[in-house]
Amino acid sequence: MKHWFFISPQELGKSSIVLKGEILQHFKALRLQEKDKVVLSDGRGRACLALIDKLAPEGARVSVLKEIEEAGGPPLDIILFLGILKGDKMELVVRSSVELGVKTIVPVFTDRTVVQMEEGKKQKRMLRWQKIARSAAAQCRRSYLPQVAVPVNMEEITSFIEDREVVFVPWEEEKGRSLYQALEGQGRVFPRRAAVFTGPEGGFSKREIEMLTAIPAVCTVSLGRRIMRAETAPLFVLSILMFLWGDAGGVRPDGSTLQNSRIPVKGEE
Ligand code: SAH
Repeated sequence: MKHWFFISPQELGKSSIVLKGEILQHFKALRLQEKDKVVLSDGRGRACLALIDKLAPEGARVSVLKEIEEAGGPPLDIILFLGILKGDKMELVVRSSVELGVKTIVPVFTDRTVVQMEEGKKQKRMLRWQKIARSAAAQCRRSYLPQVAVPVNMEEITSFIEDREVVFVPWEEEKGRSLYQALEGQGRVFPRRAAVFTGPEGGFSKREIEMLTAIPAVCTVSLGRRIMRAETAPLFVLSILMFLWGDAGGVRPDGSTLQNSRIPVKGEE
């Protein structure tokens, strides 16, 4: 499989491109040679096969050979709202959730978030997470570059939620509804725009659960009797959603759905 790199849409519009900086370093680290082929993507769904014409210390000249057929956008658009976690746990979730196919990650300062950041640091952190998302996307050959938002407060999440058909909020104190039941409740039609919101190490506060459940699309769910770590829970839910509604199972690459991949509703089997 070819190595995959992200460049700007403007650059990808040219037939011959000179790559410098980080990408050039990356070429060297991978020991790529002249006449090797790579894939260049604009991170917005376009990807092209390109040939390395010339490799010099000051830049690599590549020529675009052809567009790579893509199956279109990700079949399922998932936003992951993530109660901000300590240090490298956050990085782990960003990296793994990109591999699992998340489209947007929104880090959220919740009542029990331990990490504090000054205004200036928020942007810096976001850039670091975005870099991790970029390298994870290149590694798993995604032509969509997932976005990491600047960390927000609980009060600011509503604008992201507006267009969501369903928002699953795993909550360990939810006793009435399992994730399975919530998925079953979605019925025959697969949502195209979903979200998952998991809490930080200390979980959500009562106030936050009240705030969230006042939003119509929000559905609090139990993930079972075992309390998962804050970094495990989002990955667990994303895997299930991708299996049922994403390209890991329920939806074919052309967007059509497999009838039998839906969870059967009781009495209907
Ligand atoms: N307060 C908890 C830990 C929270 S776990 C404790 O007793 O230690 C961190 C996050 O993971 C939670 O906010 C929730 O979103 C999710 N989570 C973990 N296990 C869960 C479960 N069994 N059911 C629902 N959500 C869970």
